[in-house]
Amino acid sequence: MSNILDCAIIGGGPAGLTAGLYTTRGGLENVTMFEKGMPGGQITLSSEIENYPGVTGEITGMDLMMPWPEQCQKFGLKHEMVNVTRVTKNADIFTIEIEGADSVQAHSVIMGTGSRPRRAGFAGEDEFIGRGISTCATCDGFFYKGKEVVVVGGGDTALEEALYLAKICAKVYLVHRRDTFRSSPNTVTRVKNTENIELILNSSPDEVYGDAMGVTGIKVKDTDGKIRDIKVPGVFTFVGNDVNNQTLIQEDGSFLCDMNEQGQVVVDISMATSVAGLYATGDMRIASPKQVVSAAGDGAVAALQVISYVDEKLNG
Ligand code: FAD
Ligand code: NAP
Repeated sequence: MSNILDCAIIGGGPAGLTAGLYTTRGGLENVTMFEKGMPGGQITLSSEIENYPGVTGEITGMDLMMPWPEQCQKFGLKHEMVNVTRVTKNADIFTIEIEGADSVQAHSVIMGTGSRPRRAGFAGEDEFIGRGISTCATCDGFFYKGKEVVVVGGGDTALEEALYLAKICAKVYLVHRRDTFRSSPNTVTRVKNTENIELILNSSPDEVYGDAMGVTGIKVKDTDGKIRDIKVPGVFTFVGNDVNNQTLIQEDGSFLCDMNEQGQVVVDISMATSVAGLYATGDMRIASPKQVVSAAGDGAVAALQVISYVDEKLNG
């Protein structure tokens, strides 16, 4: 087998894993997926999925993703648990730079590095992150069993995780900076019908404060400038995501391919970027619906393109 991979897949979330399934099952023999953590992606943080087609009943993100790597490996996908630091292209070959290991070369690359939780930017956030401020309810919710917590945000993540926390905690204060939500209407209705969730609207966190043990409270300011002080040991922030695009930054600071002003990768309908042989999938691409099903779909689309691209390149 050649030292040059047919395809390198960067990221092992729904997009990367589906790309791995379709490239290998489609006949490419030399495909490696590089994932810095456990495969599965950010959906493994979710406590409940109810919109993945064909999957009914109560299922966590971890349950949903558990069988995906095994299915890929069956068709020959190789997996390396490493952090990719940079992807470059020279003379038609991509180089995948890896933290603490030798670089790897590839004829094509499918990017699927997803996104990460954004900081809300209030006083005390940096000081108390991990000490009472969390971005993961399934990871940290249990620490607040029977206690009161604050959730910040008005999107699907904030409302769904508020519902999850309401089952564990005595009370959830949902702080949102407007009086309408981005979240789906069904979720908004469920939140409004949950007795132990109090909506604090037109309000943003002003400051989280605490002591050596961690958070003891949060001050939220409404649009009239009025401050409300809420004594809670836990604050969960769900204020959106930033794209993981660092691996595409070149030595001179430019990006390997075209990006938009939000740092998302510009792709066409085939997930092709402005660089031949480089594809971008899932949450990191422009106009992504940011769903597991669409990320998986992107992975399949890119993989089918890669199969033709590599065949053309190697066999003419
Ligand atoms: P990700 O899932 O983000 O996967 C990217 C992977 O790349 C990660 O595993 C990461 O470790 C890896 N990676 C990143 N950088 C590197 C690097 N340099 N080297 C190696 N590996 C790297 N969607 C739904 O459809 N339904 C839901 O109910 C739902 N609930 C959600 C709940 C929460 C709490 C969150 C956060 C998201 C939810 N989503 C939901 C959105 C969904 O999780 C994402 O749209 C989806 O996971 C995107 O898949 P992806 O493969 O593009 O990226
Ligand atoms: P999001 O939709 O971008 O929502 C972020 C929320 O945080 C918004 O309500 C925003 O307020 C608020 N916000 C942003 N910056 C803030 C700040 N500095 N201070 C206070 N509030 C701030 O993010 P998300 O909820 O994480 O969802 C991301 C994507 O994943 C979405 O496309 C979503 O649909 C998808 N997702 C889907 C599901 C599902 O399908 N079940 C579940 C989770 C996530 P404004 O509204 O005022 O801008």
